Amino acid sequence: MSFDYDLFVIGGGSGGVRAARVAAGQTGARVALAEDDRYGGTCVIRGCVPKKLMVFASEFPEIAETGRAYGWNMTEGDFDWGVFRGKLHAELDRLEGIYRNLLKNSGVESFDARARIKDAHTVALSTGEEFTAKHILVATGGRPVRPDMPNAHLGMVSDDIFLMDKLPKSILIVGGGYIACEFACVLHGLGVEVTQYYRGAQILRGFDEEARGLIADAMCERGINLHTGTNIVDMQSVSGDAEGGPIRVKATNGAEAEFDAVLFATGRAPNTDNMGLEEAGVELGRGGEIVVDAYSQTRVPSIYAIGDVTNRVNLTPVAIREGMAFVETVFNGNPTPVDHDLIPSAVFTQPEFGTIGLSEEAAAEQEPIEVYCTSFRPMKTSFADRPDRVLMKLIVSQETRKVLGCHIVAPDAGEMIQLAGIAVKMGATKEDFDRTVAVHPTMSEELVTMKTPTRTA
Ligand code: NDP
Repeated sequence: MSFDYDLFVIGGGSGGVRAARVAAGQTGARVALAEDDRYGGTCVIRGCVPKKLMVFASEFPEIAETGRAYGWNMTEGDFDWGVFRGKLHAELDRLEGIYRNLLKNSGVESFDARARIKDAHTVALSTGEEFTAKHILVATGGRPVRPDMPNAHLGMVSDDIFLMDKLPKSILIVGGGYIACEFACVLHGLGVEVTQYYRGAQILRGFDEEARGLIADAMCERGINLHTGTNIVDMQSVSGDAEGGPIRVKATNGAEAEFDAVLFATGRAPNTDNMGLEEAGVELGRGGEIVVDAYSQTRVPSIYAIGDVTNRVNLTPVAIREGMAFVETVFNGNPTPVDHDLIPSAVFTQPEFGTIGLSEEAAAEQEPIEVYCTSFRPMKTSFADRPDRVLMKLIVSQETRKVLGCHIVAPDAGEMIQLAGIAVKMGATKEDFDRTVAVHPTMSEELVTMKTPTRTA
């Protein structure tokens, strides 16, 4: 049977674009891609990239404060959201152009249209066109979800943050995950009065407890009004106007307060609605995610899925790897499973959190461990009389001596964990860390100078 294309990719985010251009550019496959929104997807348009630029923007008041302590005559002045937003969107337009060109230059034919799967080899577009393909790759990502409660539409989700006309004076952020904590820090740094409600006992569930505790303390110390064990039970528009204006909120602890805005950072859902997936025989999980095997293949042999839509590890570099492994498997005849073990990642809170491997709690459940840990005031901010503390922590297997986990809470922890991650991924032992000479004076030198275990478990 002959097909219009060897590969039809649905979704122009990080994973889809990478798979499409590598398949077309490096294997000579005939490839098409459909995207119904902006090219670049969540990471480039409404996630990692604009978020990180906002992180940078939010750091200047602290830079000015530290500068003054070092003898500089510095004032931070006012932050102009309009100026920043204009530059931000010009940058996102530039990046989207790059994504479009990457596809074009690799010979991928792209369609600005919504795609639906008609059967195992046919894709129908919102333009009315239909195409057949030997393989279909679904890379449609995910979207933020609001909780199911009355008036939830009054609250924003993370996509809306980058589009705000002006910064609110006050905001309530609901949630305790990556997005809630990152935006709490960013918006606080930009001068917004931030309150955060998290329903559980401690933010950043699933990560190392000591690190979570230090980050929560630092966020409160900086002035974020964090309430754990608290959720929102009711919200009403103060003016009765559904579009904007202050919102009155009732909390589970009985408190009532008014906020200029509410942000729901209460999780994300895979984009699988109305795509014809189940009708075509593709299995969906309980959260709507596409169920795939180690090679990203669905139950329908010609249909594969990568990235957040599969809800495996929802991070851009993982989606890109899944896309590359898919091309290797399907177009280079070299079956390549994706390695989801020991993935380093960072949470861009202030202070930043870099982490790889097992938390102390998870490791202790698995086997006997030694914990090496130090928390101290780093030279730069301690000189400026700021209370900031950093944390350097290694979890070591008593039996194999391998470092099972490394957790860093510190400025630029994301940069540090990328490098420490190489050693951990290589299977470095505590003694390998010890044999490495310290780089002095740095914060991360503590990772190679901790001689005695803080505790065993
Ligand atoms: P998470 O799943 O990390 O966090 C969702 C938060 O919302 C949790 O604290 C959860 O509480 C809470 N929550 C869920 N439902 C409700 C509800 N009905 N009422 C109140 N609270 C609720 O999702 P995020 O949206 O923060 O992030 C999604 C994913 O995106 C992350 O897992 C990560 O993979 C990725 N990401 C990565 C970043 C990075 O690498 N720096 C940055 C941003 C996102 P509970 O803990 O009790 O379930």
